Amino acid sequence: MREGYVYLVGAGPGDIRLMTVKGQQCLRIADVVLYDRLVNPLLLEETKPGAELVYCGKLPDRHLLRQEAINDLLVKYALEGKVVVRLKGGDPSVFGRVGEEAEALEAVGISYEIVPGITAGIGAATYAGIPVTHREHGASFAIITGHDKSPNGQPLIDWAGVATGVDTIAFYMGVKNLPYICEQLIAHGRKPDTPVILIQWGTLGKQKTLSGTLETIAEIVREKKFSNPAITLVGDVAKLRTKESWFERQLLFGKQLLFGRTSEGASSIAEHLRQSGADVFEFPRFQTTEMELELSEDIRDYDEIVFHSPTSVSWFFKQLSKQKIDVRSLKATFYGASIKSRRAIESFACLAFPNNEMIKEGKCLVVGPQSLTMNEDRTKIYGEHDFLISHEEKVVKQSNWTCRRLLDEDRIDTIIFPSAESVYVITEQMKDCEQTPLQLSERAKIICFGPLSKKAAEKCGYKVDLCLTEPSEEALMEALQTNESR
Ligand code: SAH
Repeated sequence: MREGYVYLVGAGPGDIRLMTVKGQQCLRIADVVLYDRLVNPLLLEETKPGAELVYCGKLPDRHLLRQEAINDLLVKYALEGKVVVRLKGGDPSVFGRVGEEAEALEAVGISYEIVPGITAGIGAATYAGIPVTHREHGASFAIITGHDKSPNGQPLIDWAGVATGVDTIAFYMGVKNLPYICEQLIAHGRKPDTPVILIQWGTLGKQKTLSGTLETIAEIVREKKFSNPAITLVGDVAKLRTKESWFERQLLFGKQLLFGRTSEGASSIAEHLRQSGADVFEFPRFQTTEMELELSEDIRDYDEIVFHSPTSVSWFFKQLSKQKIDVRSLKATFYGASIKSRRAIESFACLAFPNNEMIKEGKCLVVGPQSLTMNEDRTKIYGEHDFLISHEEKVVKQSNWTCRRLLDEDRIDTIIFPSAESVYVITEQMKDCEQTPLQLSERAKIICFGPLSKKAAEKCGYKVDLCLTEPSEEALMEALQTNESR
């Protein structure tokens, strides 16, 4: 039997791009992932289709999985021969109980690795514009728990040493005990006007900060009802933040977008939105399986061939080359049903025309994904032509988990439908997440790329807030920056 292996991995503080390359590689090969509440659910999109995802955080109907139970699960899965990833927020060794997990694995002789991550104390501070050390304002940095296992949950630490011995202090899990922490620091010699900043949900679109001093911050936090997860940063470096940080100044900072998808792979528009500071969830996720079939000899007899996706194009040309059919022996004119399909055809040095220019008089062939044969509109258009199914695209159901978690955490404020098809696909998957179009319209702004997607969305029961003036990235960027409502 294959031997199991466990990776204890740091997911970083929130922004998915702050995970290490090694951590990401582990996620991609994992058979099972046990993940914590503070892990960004979007990271789960890195897992392979069919990977088992186990949530170890608090659920409404169930208490937190206890540490012992998590240790047992790690051992159980590893003994079954699986590649297991234990995914933890930030760095696994900073208040992450990785030591206990490693011990449990050592005890039964299971091989494991620990993959470090960026800890929230540093990640959140950086994204709030604060360096934790500075040649003029801080020469030392400490990471301290604001909560521990003492009877009343207040940290038992050497307050005198901490208050005067360290310049910058990051308190984790400290919001509840903030009044106590500030009192202790002042009582042990730290100046009451020492700057303090709290950074909540650091490195994510919903990052928020609150500033004060050791004397004032507890009251400010109480007033604003600020809660965990937050880092409390104490020290002169906190005064370096005088305005919005580089992160908060990004064009789309604070936008939490769901971007509709109808095929495998990432969209370049979604990536650009991300680069402009938005949190973007491309949904749902697809897996492509190419068809194994031979082109028949009469492929040369077609007058017109229309391709319905770039995958259909690459599949077709791969097939030609495999069967040693020279493309010059085909007499057909090639058409693409989308710009992307036409570009794909052109990349093989063939001319490509839009499908609405088809003459449809001779022998025509439609090459497309299996879903095309099930789409009524399409069968109406191409009814009398031959169909060739190039590939099948199946929704990867795992991403519905990611979607549920994001909805639970209220981390989707805008839904973008780039096409009518994306409306149907998302509506179908959302049933799994127990969300109706009306409910989604109430919690998020609905943006459609054009009249066809708008019509489809309204037909399904969405309240469309905005239809782009033209289906382009520029128009979308502009729409996202203005706060028009319904
Ligand atoms: N291993 C984690 C810490 C786990 S303890 C790490 O290295 O970051 C959980 C605490 O971490 C939270 O109570 C909060 O204080 C802090 N935390 C985690 N993620 C955070 C985030 N995105 N923003 C602010 N604080 C965060």
